[in-house]
Amino acid sequence: MVDKGAAGGWRATWAEIDLAAVRHNVGVLIERCSPAAVCAVVKADGYGHGSVDVARAAVDGGATWLAVALVEEGQALRDAGVDAPILLLAEPPAASMAAVRQAGLTPTLYTPDGVAAASSAGAAGGEPLVAHLKVDTGMHRVGADPADALALARAIDKAPGLRLGGTWTHLAVADDPAQASYTTAQLLRFDAVLAELRTAAIDPGLLHAANSAGALAEASSRYDMVRCGISVYGYSPVPLPDGCQSLRPALSLRSRVSLARPLAAGERVSYGLRYALAADSVVATVPLGYADGVPRRLSAVGGEVLVGGRRRPIAGTVTMDQLMVDCGPGADVAAGDEVVLLGRQGGEEITADEWAGRLDTIAYEILCGISKRVPRVVRDGP
Ligand SMILES: *Cc1c(COP(=O)(O)O)cnc(C)c1O
Repeated sequence: MVDKGAAGGWRATWAEIDLAAVRHNVGVLIERCSPAAVCAVVKADGYGHGSVDVARAAVDGGATWLAVALVEEGQALRDAGVDAPILLLAEPPAASMAAVRQAGLTPTLYTPDGVAAASSAGAAGGEPLVAHLKVDTGMHRVGADPADALALARAIDKAPGLRLGGTWTHLAVADDPAQASYTTAQLLRFDAVLAELRTAAIDPGLLHAANSAGALAEASSRYDMVRCGISVYGYSPVPLPDGCQSLRPALSLRSRVSLARPLAAGERVSYGLRYALAADSVVATVPLGYADGVPRRLSAVGGEVLVGGRRRPIAGTVTMDQLMVDCGPGADVAAGDEVVLLGRQGGEEITADEWAGRLDTIAYEILCGISKRVPRVVRDGP
């Protein structure tokens, strides 16, 4: 086999995934949320980190459940030998229900058609299919109307091939303390549905409502289990509460200078010639761009990278495959030097939250946006 080098490709651009950070973050969540169990959300290829590696590390770190968005995402985990319980966060298409059962995934249900499809897949023989009922308490994305929840729970309870293993909801504003009363109202609606089920002698099973924000900041949202995504990857959507150990970003995005040369003051750089050098400077070219998930706009909003342990501005428009960096007058920078887009170098750190702040988005979108073209290099510890 030809060795393509430590970056996982001929091009010296890679994302490093630190599994020790994933285990650490799950440990922080367990400490914070116990006795609630931790479900690690590994949808979207583990928020861009690689779902199989993250799933294994999260389970090693003490997560007892995993969750994904798509049937295919669950199947990929099973194909890789992951055997923890896997929750599907939306009702799977009726046609996929046999595959759901075959892969041993736990479907979420919230429509009569979904219950019927799951019931026939479950009745095909063997153990009943265990499903979770999702109630929409105010997010208004997916889930049963609270007024319909009891009827659906009954239908699941009575269906020959089905068993109700859990009941859950999802919070819309758990990350916003200014809207705490809305979260409280959602939880009250959830509790009212649970009371109805119990009155009807239906066991609602495993109860869960919290995402990372709820898990970290709102104790009353934890119930039996918390569904944590972004915090597993080392980011918190809320200021970390007092006494909570810090989380560690699990992904860093790195590259190496491909070309560096001095340019004179007044020279302009990249498409549109939008960046003019204020002084004679050394400009370095770095082989990654917006096709790799570095937003084209990042340079226009003050985006920086780390070179030689120092912050340096991205010079000019980020192109599809390459970007340029203004390394400053007389900078000692040469081809092969490491460049950090996200992560630490020397005493400096650039986080996905920093990019998100500049770009008016959230760390989630930055992390999921790091494209397939970037090889993921998995390591365990610093
Ligand atoms: C994505 C998702 C989560 C995880 O949210 P984080 O904010 O990343 O912790 C939890 N529950 C549901 C239903 C989700 O879709």
